[in-house]
Amino acid sequence: PLPTPTVPGVAGARLRVPLVDGRTVSYANLDHAASAPCLDAVRDAVDELLPWYASVHRGAGFASQVSTKVYERARRVLRRFVGANDTDTVVFTRNTTDSLNLLAKALPRGTSVVLFDTEHHAALLPWRGPNVLRVQTPAVADDAVAVLDEALRSTPVGPRLVVLTAASNVTGEVWPIKALSAVARSHGARIVLDAAQLAPHRPIDIRALDVDYVVLSGHKLYAPFGAGALIGRADWLKAAEPYLVGGGATAQVVDRGDQLGVAWAAVPERHEAGSPNVVGAHALAVACETLAREWDAVIAHERALLRKLRAGLATVPGLRSLSLFGAEHDRVGVVSFTVDGIEAGLVAAALSAEHGIGVRDGAFCAHIATRRLLGRAGAQEERAVRISIGLGTRAEHVDRVVAALRTLVADGPAVEYAVVDGRWSP
Ligand code: PMP
Repeated sequence: PLPTPTVPGVAGARLRVPLVDGRTVSYANLDHAASAPCLDAVRDAVDELLPWYASVHRGAGFASQVSTKVYERARRVLRRFVGANDTDTVVFTRNTTDSLNLLAKALPRGTSVVLFDTEHHAALLPWRGPNVLRVQTPAVADDAVAVLDEALRSTPVGPRLVVLTAASNVTGEVWPIKALSAVARSHGARIVLDAAQLAPHRPIDIRALDVDYVVLSGHKLYAPFGAGALIGRADWLKAAEPYLVGGGATAQVVDRGDQLGVAWAAVPERHEAGSPNVVGAHALAVACETLAREWDAVIAHERALLRKLRAGLATVPGLRSLSLFGAEHDRVGVVSFTVDGIEAGLVAAALSAEHGIGVRDGAFCAHIATRRLLGRAGAQEERAVRISIGLGTRAEHVDRVVAALRTLVADGPAVEYAVVDGRWSP
C-alpha cells in the first residue's frame, strides 16, 4: 500500500509567547508569507551539516569535499524541484530580490522589459530605463492576456522579458501563468516567474508553464534565511559580466601592469562570487525535497484551512478583504483586509498582545497594489492586515484569529495602545 501523505512538521510548532495580561499561550504564526517556519526535516539536516561545513570547491580536505558534494547536490534538487531543463543553470543567491537583481544586470543590451504594475517591489524595481513598460493590472485575470499582448506589440524589435509574479503576496491570488507565457512566446519574449509565494504552496514546472526563469527564497520555503535561487536559461547569464566580483567568480586573474586581466568563471560560479552559503543551499534543498514528497497533503491541509479562515472572516463585521481578481479567484493561503474603524497596525498589535497571534500589517512591499486594492475595497486606510497560513498553521489558530477579530470589533482592544517608534504597542 502507498504511504498516507502527511503534512511535514515545522520547528516552532510548540513555541509559547507572553500576552499583555501575563499569561503565555502557544504561538499562532499566521505570517507564513513573510517568512515560513523551518521544517523539522530542515532543522535536522542543518544540524547534521553544521560540524562539517567548509569551503566549497576550493579546499582539498575531507570536509571541503563533503561541503562541495552537498552544495552541488542542492543544485540538482532545485533543478528537479522546478522541473528545469538539463541545460538550465541554477545560481544560488541570497533570496528572490537578489535573484531578480542579478537577472536585471544580465539582460542583453536593449532588452525590453514588460511587467504589471501591482508587482512586489522586488519584481517592480530592478528594471530601469526607457525600455521598461509597466502596464496596469486589469481587474479580471483573463484580461491580463490581452493587456500583455498589447504591451508586447508596442515594444521595439530585440530581446524581450516579461516579469510575472506567480502568486500575489498581498492577496495570494495565482496569476494565469500559462496563458501569459503563451502570449509572451508569440512575441518571442522570455518570462521570469517570481515564485516566492507560489513555490511553498504548489508544485512549479518550468517546462509545463513554459517560462524561462524561476526565482524563489528559502525563508519562504520553510528553510532559514540567506539562500535563494535563480533557475533558468543559461545563455544571458553566460554572456553577462558577473553580478558581484571576487573569488569564485574568476577562472584566472593576471597582472597586466596598469590593469588586471580577468577571465570570468563559467556559470553558475560566475555569479556566485565569495564563499558559497553551503548550509543555506542544503537547507533550501531539503525543504524542496520534503515538500515535493508531500504535495498532496500540503495542498489539502492549506486548502481546508483557507476555506475555514475565509468563512470565519466573513462573519467579522466591517471586515473588507482585498482582491486583485475577485473573491472566487484561485489563491494560496493569504488574506489581506481592513477592519472599519480600527487601524491595521492596531489590529495587528492587539492580535499579538492579547491573543499570541502573529500577522503582518502594512503595504507589504507592494505599495501600488495595496493602495489600489484598499481603494477598490472602499477602505479608509493606506495599510492592511495580512493573515497568511502554511504548514505551521492549525485549525485552532484559525478559530483563534476569527474569535479575536470578532471580540476586537465588538468590544475594542482590551488594553490601551499607543504608537511607539511607529508601531502600535500596549
Ligand atoms: N516577491 C514576492 C511575491 C514576495 O512575496 C517577496 C517577499 N515578500 C519577494 C519577492 C522578495 O523576497 P525576499 O525578501 O526573500 O527577497
